[in-house]
Amino acid sequence: MHPLIYDWNRTTETPRPSVMLDDETLRDGLQSPSVRCPSIDEKLRILHLMDGLGIDTADLGLPGAGPHVVRDVERLAREIVDGRLRIQANCAARTVIADIKPIVEVSQRVGLPIECGTFIGSSPLRQYAEGWSLDQLLKLTEDAIAFAVGENLPVMYVTEDTTRADPDTLRALYSTAIRAGAKRVCIADTVGHATPAGAAAVVRFVATIVEECGGGIGIDWHGHRDRDLAIANTIAALDAGATRLHGAAIGIGERVGNTPMDALLVNLVLMGYIERDLSALCEYCEAVSAATGVPIPPNYPIAGRDAFRTATGVHAAAVIKAFRKKDAGLIDAVYSGVPASLVAREQQIDVGPMSGKSNVVFWLERRGIAASDALVDRIFAKAKGSATVLTEQKAEGRRQKAEGRRQKAEGRRQKASYCGRPAGRSPRRSAGQGVKPRMWPGTTRN
Ligand SMILES: [Zn+2]
Repeated sequence: MHPLIYDWNRTTETPRPSVMLDDETLRDGLQSPSVRCPSIDEKLRILHLMDGLGIDTADLGLPGAGPHVVRDVERLAREIVDGRLRIQANCAARTVIADIKPIVEVSQRVGLPIECGTFIGSSPLRQYAEGWSLDQLLKLTEDAIAFAVGENLPVMYVTEDTTRADPDTLRALYSTAIRAGAKRVCIADTVGHATPAGAAAVVRFVATIVEECGGGIGIDWHGHRDRDLAIANTIAALDAGATRLHGAAIGIGERVGNTPMDALLVNLVLMGYIERDLSALCEYCEAVSAATGVPIPPNYPIAGRDAFRTATGVHAAAVIKAFRKKDAGLIDAVYSGVPASLVAREQQIDVGPMSGKSNVVFWLERRGIAASDALVDRIFAKAKGSATVLTEQKAEGRRQKAEGRRQKAEGRRQKASYCGRPAGRSPRRSAGQGVKPRMWPGTTRN
């Protein structure tokens, strides 16, 4: 952070809690109604990118959904083993033995421990809609977890709709799961209901249940974006005691999606929770976008086209002055809350109707083009008359036209100049050259 920044975000809480990350892109992410299911090669590339970003675990899929999922989950799990990836695997399963069995089988065939994320509806609202009783849920919980633990799979017990479930129900479900051998419990804000205060409250409550059960159980937070509070909720959950946070690349997932893993990573770095090389973060976003057919909007934070781009005169002027000072930290910080260099991008100055002449000068200089007054004036006039920022092609077209005009004018001046000279001193004759173009730049004026 630039030394001149006074950081009001900084809190006195120390030490920062340690945090793990679980990537849901290849499971919850693919439940988005708008995604195209990636090919296995695309999934493998995404898995490697997750690994490169230091993400701790990846949800490889829900094998209980059918043989096509089993095939991909097995290939991905094998890649973790063969490629010696650091990332660990987990899989989703309903809290039923039929869903857990295929995870056991893949784990045994590949020789990789796969954490079993067994999920179950927990809120009275859902119980009422489904016609379930709490006793039924407790029985399913006990049987399914006992089966998974008996097969040596680590278990994360996921309660769906936790953020709308009452304390007694949560205490009954979690204490049963922990007694049955679950090593982690996951608070799922399945419908994106929580606010940051609510997220913190439910995490603190679950932490008391964990303590009542003897402690030593990890708490996961799984958030959704329905109220557009996912990142804030996830950070609040971390501060309240969650130790693993879920997210998906570019926020894809059910309905409007999961907590965006990309923005979460950037926030965790900027807030000092983790240190991480994020130079491949945009590649990760773009790979998931290309593989799923979900476009990255231009104004999407960090990976969007406009994330580090300005065409506004005042903003651009400040950034340009920072460039002139050759102060990398200042360039990154003067008009951006996220340093572009953190994600291997850079500030981009464009030219549009809101621009000043300094935008044009800078635009030309960055391309190694001399910024003559005439050229600047022409591009500036074009930008002021345009409804949008000039595209690279438009600006270049304007530059080429201006250059063409300049050359023609120069040609006319040269001709006039030769006509005014004595015939015997014509440069064509004196230079002894008959090649016309050589006259233009080589001829001196009186
Ligand atoms: Zn979810």
